[in-house]
Amino acid sequence: MAKPAPLDLRRRYDVVVVGGGPAGLGAAVGARDAGAEHVLVVDREPEAGGILQQCIHHGFGLHHFKEELTGPEYAQRFLAQVTERGVDVLTDAYVLDVDRDRRVALLSQDHALAPVDAGAVVLAMGARERTREAVRIPGSRPAGVMTAGFAQKLVNVAGYLPGKRVAILGSGDIGLIMARRLILEGVEVVGVFELMPHANGLSRNVVQCLHDFDVPLHLSTTVVRVHGRDRVDRITVAPVDEALRPVLSRAWDVACDTLLVSIGLIPDNELARHLGVRLDPVTTGPVVDSTMQTSRDGVFACGNTVHIHDLVDMVSQESYLAGSAAGGFVTGRHTPADNVRLTPGANVRYTVPTTISTDREHTVYLRVQKPMTDCVLRLGDVHAKPLRYVVPAEMVTLKVRPRFLEAFHGGTLTVSVETREPASTKGAAA
Ligand SMILES: Cc1cc2nc3c(=O)[nH]c(=O)nc-3n(C[C@H](O)[C@H](O)[C@H](O)COP(=O)(O)OP(=O)(O)OC[C@H]3O[C@@H](n4cnc5c(N)ncnc54)[C@H](O)[C@@H]3O)c2cc1C
Repeated sequence: MAKPAPLDLRRRYDVVVVGGGPAGLGAAVGARDAGAEHVLVVDREPEAGGILQQCIHHGFGLHHFKEELTGPEYAQRFLAQVTERGVDVLTDAYVLDVDRDRRVALLSQDHALAPVDAGAVVLAMGARERTREAVRIPGSRPAGVMTAGFAQKLVNVAGYLPGKRVAILGSGDIGLIMARRLILEGVEVVGVFELMPHANGLSRNVVQCLHDFDVPLHLSTTVVRVHGRDRVDRITVAPVDEALRPVLSRAWDVACDTLLVSIGLIPDNELARHLGVRLDPVTTGPVVDSTMQTSRDGVFACGNTVHIHDLVDMVSQESYLAGSAAGGFVTGRHTPADNVRLTPGANVRYTVPTTISTDREHTVYLRVQKPMTDCVLRLGDVHAKPLRYVVPAEMVTLKVRPRFLEAFHGGTLTVSVETREPASTKGAAA
């Protein structure tokens, strides 16, 4: 097939979206639906779709499409919508900078170093994995230590196995999914070692990827040393005490040739930081209002670059909102009216957004600090939503109705998750 003609980047785009993962694609669809005429999505990879392209397992789209899709299938649905709407997609292009005048500097093979003027910008750069260096595991530096996401790309995209006998540090979703994936490819997975007293991935992944395949999950345990000259030959693991300090007197060795590190994702926020948007110290992503606008006018953000999502369906919902608001910004219909500040209270790490308005319904996303069962989500002192259980690994969503918010106009609303006490229930906000 003939290569399509290069895009003319001298045109001013109404909306430029940085990142062509599910967040960027959802935002582009939202921007076009809101009336933005010229929309450009830029991605550094040869294909748009983001991390989904390497996630060939099922489990995507249950909420959004009411179907169970693989990652590439889910991405394809959005790529089709983007194409139908005439959005320009530029791949193999790296965005180097976004300045305060919303001028996007990108580097690509076809265009070399090109500045693109945008009426509004949506930041959707996703996240990157924490590495061995982030937790400073002592020992030698042999081959065979890698992040779980990199191993996923090796297996699912490049067609290589990372090793024959694999240990996994961290019970995040990527590590859990890779445990199953590697077993299906004939690799021995000797165990998952998790620092916390609870698993850090979705419950369904613990069951379907570890329990169903008899992979041992060692909670409150960490890797304290990596051994090997050219290649990993074993690791030392140890239980941790209540302060999460390894108890070295009870350490033991585990023979393996590969250590996968699955210890969390960090929002990719260099562009946001350079642009000077306000960042949330807890999520490390940009602080956003209820339209996903950052602290800079006309700059919106969504997806994992704002906060880490466990389900792509939530990314799509949030990014459509960001894109619609960006489209509204360039067509003069963006009227943010936030007048209630949300603050995290008991057992809540953060909320997204951090402000909402009293004039419409909002979806608020939050994560808890510690697991709890039989609890209730409270807004102020109002019982908003009963929850059978909460765990830090699973994002909680709450729809807040305007009727309830009126009383908080101009004020602050504390969001907390507490043990259920039926007597203090005052009303329902959602
Ligand atoms: C291993 C794994 C398994 C998962 N399993 C599930 C599951 O079963 N079900 C589910 O619902 N969700 C799952 N998720 C979560 C879901 O995939 C993510 O929430 C979603 O991909 C986040 O979308 P995003 O667009 O924010 O980020 P990404 O998908 O990471 O996309 C970001 C894009 O931005 C591009 N980019 C970044 N910086 C630049 C730059 N400077 N210039 C140009 N381009 C740039 C990147 O190349 C990338 O394509 C999984 C995630 C992972 C990692």
